Amino acid sequence: MADPRKTAVAQEAPPAYTIARDSEEEKKEILKRYRSLLRACKPSVGPAAKKRIRLAFNTALEAHRGMRRRSGEPYIYHPLAVARIVAAEIGLGATSIICALLHDTVEDTDLTLEDIESLFGKKESRIIDGLTKIAGVFDNKSSIQAENFRKILLTLSDDVRVILIKLADRLHNMRTLAVMPREKQVKIASESAYLYAPLAHRLGFYAIKTELDDLALRYTEPQIYQQINEKLQATKKERDRFISEFTKPLGVEFKKQKLKFEIKGRPKSIHSIWNKMKRQEIPFEEVYDLFAIRIIIDTPSEREKADCWRVYSIVTDFFVPNPDRLRDWISTPKANGYEALHTTVMSNPGKWVEVQIRTRRMDDIAEKGYAAHWKYKESASESAVDEWLGKIREILENPEANALDFIDDFKLNLFAEEIFVFTPKGELRTLPSGSTAIDFAFDIHSDVGSRCIGAKVNHKLVPISHELNSGDQVEIITSTKQFPKEDWLTFAVTAKAKSKIKSSLKEQRKKTAEFGKETFDRRLRQLKTSLQKINMNNVLLHFKCPSPTDLYYKVATDQLDLRELGDVLSGKIKPRPKLRPRKEEPSFEDMVRKVRGTSDALVIGENMDKIDYKMSPCCNPIPGDEVFGFITINEGIKIHRSNCPNAIQLMSNYAYRIVKARWTGQKQIAFMAGIRITGADDVGVVNSITKIISSELKVNMRSISIESQDGLFEGTIMLFVHDTEHLKKLMHKLQQLKGILSVTRID
Ligand code: MN
Repeated sequence: MADPRKTAVAQEAPPAYTIARDSEEEKKEILKRYRSLLRACKPSVGPAAKKRIRLAFNTALEAHRGMRRRSGEPYIYHPLAVARIVAAEIGLGATSIICALLHDTVEDTDLTLEDIESLFGKKESRIIDGLTKIAGVFDNKSSIQAENFRKILLTLSDDVRVILIKLADRLHNMRTLAVMPREKQVKIASESAYLYAPLAHRLGFYAIKTELDDLALRYTEPQIYQQINEKLQATKKERDRFISEFTKPLGVEFKKQKLKFEIKGRPKSIHSIWNKMKRQEIPFEEVYDLFAIRIIIDTPSEREKADCWRVYSIVTDFFVPNPDRLRDWISTPKANGYEALHTTVMSNPGKWVEVQIRTRRMDDIAEKGYAAHWKYKESASESAVDEWLGKIREILENPEANALDFIDDFKLNLFAEEIFVFTPKGELRTLPSGSTAIDFAFDIHSDVGSRCIGAKVNHKLVPISHELNSGDQVEIITSTKQFPKEDWLTFAVTAKAKSKIKSSLKEQRKKTAEFGKETFDRRLRQLKTSLQKINMNNVLLHFKCPSPTDLYYKVATDQLDLRELGDVLSGKIKPRPKLRPRKEEPSFEDMVRKVRGTSDALVIGENMDKIDYKMSPCCNPIPGDEVFGFITINEGIKIHRSNCPNAIQLMSNYAYRIVKARWTGQKQIAFMAGIRITGADDVGVVNSITKIISSELKVNMRSISIESQDGLFEGTIMLFVHDTEHLKKLMHKLQQLKGILSVTRID
C-alpha cells in the first residue's frame, strides 16, 4: 500500500465511534482551507460551479468524518489539498476540483459511484471510477499488473483529468511523506521518481516533475539531499548579488525599448544538481550552472517570436553568447509542448550563465502544462497531449502486442529523451533518442518501414540500423521485395516499429508454414496416405515440434528432413520417449548444473564429446573471441560471442541458461564475485542491469536472480571480474542506473 491515508485508515485509526468530533479549532481550519481553495479557482469558475464545489466539499467532509490521516490531522485536509493543487498548480476547472475533493470517497467511505452520479453527474462518476481503479493498480501490490495497467490507460485516454488528479494526489502524499515510516518513504519516493515524475514531465508539468524529483531524493538519499541543500543556502547571498548585477543593465534597456518584462533568477533543483554531479563526476562546487536567468515578457501572440528574439538580441549585446548553447524551442517546441529560447552567455566575472527567454503564455504552459493551453486556445495548434494519448492508444489497440511487451515499450517511450529529425521535404518528426533509420521509416508509414532497405542521412547512404541524431535529414530507400527481418528487432527502438515488425514476422511465419504444409502433404501423398489418416502426435514427437505450424515452418525452411517420415508412420522408428512433456522441463536446470558442475566455465575444445554444442550462426565465434554458452531446448549448447546482438536479450531473459565459456588455452583471468542490488521494481530493470554488465563493461555474468516485493526488487548477480578495481567500476556504473537504490558486494 503506497497511499499514506490507506494505512492510516486501515491500521492506525481507532474505530470511528471512539473518535471525537473535529474540535472547534479544526472546524475553523477546515473552513479556512476550503476558502483558500475557492480563492485558487480560476475566474472562469462561476457562481453555479462554485455551488457544485461547495456540495462536493460538504459531501466529502461528511463522508470522511471521523477519519484521520497518519499525521493525526482530519482526513478532509487531504482532498482539500489535492483539490487546491488541481486548481492552483495544474490550473484545472470545476469538474476536476469536484472530483479531487471526492477522489477517495468511493474507495474509503460508504459513498458509491451511484451516489456521485446522482449528486454530480455522469462525467464526475466516470472520473471517480477511474481514480478508484488507479488507486488499486498504482498503489497496491508489488509491481503494476500489466493487464490492469493497460486497461487503466485506456480509461485514461478517455479522460485525461483522471491522471492529472492522480498526479495531484501523489504530489500531496509526497509533500506529507515525513510522517510515514522509513520503508514506506523509500518505496513511495522511488515509485514517484520512477513513474510519476517522468509522467509529469511527459505531460509538461515541469514544476510538479521537479518537486517530485526533489522530494524523492530527499527521502531516498537524505544525506546527499541535506548536503546539497545546505551548500545552496550557504551560497545564496553571493548568488543573489550576482543575479542583480547581471540583470541590471538588461532591465534598463528593456524599459527603454518599452518591453513589459519580469526577470527571475531560477535556482536549479537539488535533484538536477545531484544528477549533474553524478553524470560528470564533479563536486557541488564545480557545477557552474546552479541557476538560470529567466526573462518573461508580456506580448501579444502575433509578436511572440519576434519579441523573444529581440530580447535575445539585447542580451547578446551585453554578453557574449556561446554559439553551441543556443536552443530555439520557439520555432520547434519540444514534444511535451515546451517553448522558449535558451542561450548561455559569458557574464562579466567570466562565468557562463544560462538565459531562458519566454513569453508569459510560454511560462504558464511550462509551469502548468497542458491545462494552461486551454487558456490560450486560439494559439495552441495541435495539443501534444492528444498526440501522446494517441500514441498510447495506437499501442493499446494493437492486438499483437502482449501486455508485458506493452509496458516495456511504453516505459521506453516514456523515459527516452527525444531527437528531432527531418523528412526530405523538411517536415519535422520527433523520435526517442537512440532511434534508428528503421524507426524513422515506421514513423512515416508502416509500409515504408516494412519495405525499408536503407536510408540516406544527410545525403549519405547508411544501413537501416543507423542511429539517428537530432537535426538529421532522413530519406528512406525502399524496395518492394523487402520485408521485415528478425534482426530488425535488435535495433528498432520505438514501440510502433517493434510491434509492427513483430506482427509482420508472425504473419510471415504463418505464410511460410503454409508452403511447408504443401510440401508435407505432397510427401504424404507419395507415401499413399493423408493428413486425416496419420498419427500427427507421433510425427510431432519424432521431429520435436510443439505444433503442426512449427513442423510445417521447419519443413519449409529446410530445417527438417522428411526422408524419415515413412519409417515414422509405419512404426519402424518409434517416437523417442526422451522427449518429456513440458511440465518436466526442469531438466534444463539439471543440465545447467551438470555443465557448470565442477568447473566454472565450459572449456571449448576439451572433453567436447561429452557435451552437445554448436557455434551459433548469428555471430560465428572464433577461438580468441570472448564467448558464452547458451543452453537451448533442442540443440544442446550454443556458443555465442559475448558481444553478439542476441546476447543481451538471452542474458536478461534466460540468465539461468547461460554458461560461462572459454577456449582451450585461453587464460582464465576472471574470478567470480557476487553483488546485491536493490531498487524500484520495473520490468526493464534487468535489461538495463545486464546491458551495463555485459555490453558496457564486457563482464560475463554467471547468474542473475531478481525478486520483487512491494514495488522494490532485490537482485543477486554472480559475475566474473578481473579484479576489485573492475568490480568497483561496475558497481559504480550500476549505482547510477535509474531506480537503483543500493549496490553492495556479497562476501
Ligand atoms: Mn488520495
